[in-house]
Amino acid sequence: MKMKAPRGTKDVLPKDVYKWHYLEDTFRETCKNFGYNEIRTPIFEHTELFKRGVGETTDIVQKEMYSFEDNGGRDITLKPEGTAPVVRAFIEHKLYADAQPTKLYYATPCFRYERPQAGRLRAFHQFGIEVFGTTNPQIDAEIIGVAMDFFSRLHIKNLELRINSVGCKKCRSDYNEVLKKYLSTKVEKLCNTCNDRYERNPMRIIDCKNEKCKEEVSDIPLMIDHLCEECSNDFNQLKESLNLMDIGFIVDPKIVRGLDYYTKTAFEIISNEIGSQSTVCGGGRYDGLIEQLGGPSMPGIGFGMGIERLLLTLENNNIEIPKPDKLDVFIVSLGEKSNRESVKILKSIREENLSADKDYLERSMKAQFKYANKRNARFCIVIGENEIEKGVVTLKNMETGDQTEISIDNIGQEIKNICK
Ligand code: ATP
Ligand code: MG
Repeated sequence: MKMKAPRGTKDVLPKDVYKWHYLEDTFRETCKNFGYNEIRTPIFEHTELFKRGVGETTDIVQKEMYSFEDNGGRDITLKPEGTAPVVRAFIEHKLYADAQPTKLYYATPCFRYERPQAGRLRAFHQFGIEVFGTTNPQIDAEIIGVAMDFFSRLHIKNLELRINSVGCKKCRSDYNEVLKKYLSTKVEKLCNTCNDRYERNPMRIIDCKNEKCKEEVSDIPLMIDHLCEECSNDFNQLKESLNLMDIGFIVDPKIVRGLDYYTKTAFEIISNEIGSQSTVCGGGRYDGLIEQLGGPSMPGIGFGMGIERLLLTLENNNIEIPKPDKLDVFIVSLGEKSNRESVKILKSIREENLSADKDYLERSMKAQFKYANKRNARFCIVIGENEIEKGVVTLKNMETGDQTEISIDNIGQEIKNICK
């Protein structure tokens, strides 16, 4: 049997891994710059956490989870998203007792059983942040600011930020009444999923991808026109803060995050270049979630960003990620004595924190130079048997071809000065 990676998964090969390092480093720097700390949670959790934390009416819980029973009979699920585990850890470790707000970020693999296509995988990766402990709309603007600042560090332009408010418990229940009334004559013509939504969470009908449903409810009442005073004020403050931060946005009343504990701000950041899978980042407020998962009544907000979609966006914008540094030094040696000396020299060069390597395949001198070029070496050190007697080696600059003799004593330090 020919072994292949499972459908919907991707290997990151050594030639591409620098791109991931670059994104990870840049995300980390951005989060640090905004005062966020990293949190890491396990790859799997109790299935119940996602049922309660993501919600029984969502696509994720209804059809996308990788769930199994472990050998101890526990129901386990591979993380489909990052928020619920972070909230679980926040409660379990009583981080709510610390000074608030709690500002966290993470990078994590996620698993969802979906139909694979460009920008949609079964094993993918997310960057995310979560803030607990404040309802101040300035923090809503701040987390959007983190995402936008990250994109600008990556030189991605042409992104569209769309914001909306999905209201709070109180104004949503009034709105649901309005919706149900509006939908009562239409619901029969909608798809099965929408019929289910009609019963459980009518606002999610706005999110239906079915063209017929979309057409049928094209003049559906919108939450944004039914916000209570508090939600309306908060939304205005969010817009004001975004303006203060010079972040452009579009109000899109059709962005909905459907669960009862999703409240107020909902947003998406869209890259039009990557086709149908265009949402690079999605986030919003969830003021009821911490309590829903057994913690104190405390507000929260966050976003999740697909790293594979980010890479596609960079590619489609022809943005080159800086290539990693070259190999500093490659040691070319010929003969037993010189080969033995190369082990010592290699050690002293590496001790100076320079990247260095040697031949391990007993190649000819010519083949070693060829290999050094393939490895993109900046310098080669050539160790000849006669020179060892004199205590010197030849250093060749691979770009200019210049050669100089240098002493073996203190060679690490010498090379370091030259490589700087
Ligand atoms: P979509 O509508 O595209 O399915 P979603 O609402 O399911 O997105 P979220 O749960 O908000 O997505 O996840 C946040 C981000 O993670 C998305 O904006 C996207 O960039 C990325 N993402 C989600 N699902 C996948 C996937 N299957 N493969 C790759 N990236 C994904
Ligand atoms: Mg999805």
